[in-house]
Amino acid sequence: MTGSPAAFDAIATGTEIQRRLGVKTVRDELLARHTTMRVGGPADLFAVAHNAFELRGLVRFARGRAIPFLVLGRGSNLVVADAGVRGLVIQARAEASRVDGDRYHADAGVPMARAATETQAAGLTGLEFGLAIPGTVGGAVWANAGAHGADTGAVLESATLLLGDTSEVVAPAADLGLAYRHSRLKAANPPGSTNPVEIVLSAVFRLTPADPAEIKARLDDIRGWRREHQPLGLPSAGSVFRNPDGDSAGRLVDELGLKGYRRGGAAVSEKHANFIVNDRKGTAADVRRVAEHVRDEVRRRAGVDLVFEIEFAGDWSGWTQEDAA
Ligand SMILES: Cc1cc2nc3c(=O)[nH]c(=O)nc-3n(C[C@H](O)[C@H](O)[C@H](O)COP(=O)(O)OP(=O)(O)OC[C@H]3O[C@@H](n4cnc5c(N)ncnc54)[C@H](O)[C@@H]3O)c2cc1C
Repeated sequence: MTGSPAAFDAIATGTEIQRRLGVKTVRDELLARHTTMRVGGPADLFAVAHNAFELRGLVRFARGRAIPFLVLGRGSNLVVADAGVRGLVIQARAEASRVDGDRYHADAGVPMARAATETQAAGLTGLEFGLAIPGTVGGAVWANAGAHGADTGAVLESATLLLGDTSEVVAPAADLGLAYRHSRLKAANPPGSTNPVEIVLSAVFRLTPADPAEIKARLDDIRGWRREHQPLGLPSAGSVFRNPDGDSAGRLVDELGLKGYRRGGAAVSEKHANFIVNDRKGTAADVRRVAEHVRDEVRRRAGVDLVFEIEFAGDWSGWTQEDAA
């Protein structure tokens, strides 16, 4: 998000949200508390949407008053600026879910890991990869998140979207432009931009009946693989770069000897070269310095232009090349 409209008054807006929607707001909430990287300064105003009704209401409210806003899932793909976010941050904690035959209906805030275990218990296969994704259903649709040879698009039947004109549509998965870590939502709301055009309210997944014990065995495998290969004990935002065509970003970074490269409290993980980890004292600027250094080195020494998969969100307006150096 960039710039704050002079007219935005966090106190008056918070009071109005409470009066109209019955949702409490907090001023200057530190977003480091709500991101897996554990960095991020204050949101001017922060509200938690506990259900789809509140999520819809908060987004419509912000749009109706031209207040910049960011919808936050579990903040597991974000590096929020130390300067924080200007405007309203809406955390999607709408977490209703149900199994109906071979379909799984989930609100945007349902954690993907819960989707994986709930559908396993119901004897439905297809969402096991969700165990690897510490984000929400909304964030997974936005990113077409995937792991272990599967992705959201492979099992998503439809998503209910709140559009920019505040109308609501049930969009079939085929209309969402899902590709490798990509969706039409992401295209319409490039990383870091303000006022997302389309918001996921809920999703329906079409799954396949299978033996719960076999599905559980796959979940155990995924759990074991993650423990072995990912630096799960330290804050991170998952893969920093998209894999270039036919190659692996982690391999490139590793080959250049960049594992362990550190700035302040952030470093390239020794365990997984495509992760940046925070020793819990790191700032968003530290993370960005490491990320940009790695990208520059890979370009200079390997001739490959890596593209960020993590999203630099919030007020980075003061960030300059000198900061990166
Ligand atoms: C340890 C670790 C491992 C990871 N492994 C994987 C992996 O294997 N595969 C993978 O794909 N990703 C992985 N990730 C990255 C991340 O979990 C995914 O990108 C996830 O989909 C992000 O979901 P979120 O709810 O946390 O979204 P956030 O990080 O909160 O938000 C990301 C973007 O999605 C938007 N968004 C969130 N909710 C909505 C909504 N309801 N409607 C519209 N837009 C929305 C936000 O505005 C933001 O632009 C990993 C992350 C970590 C920390």
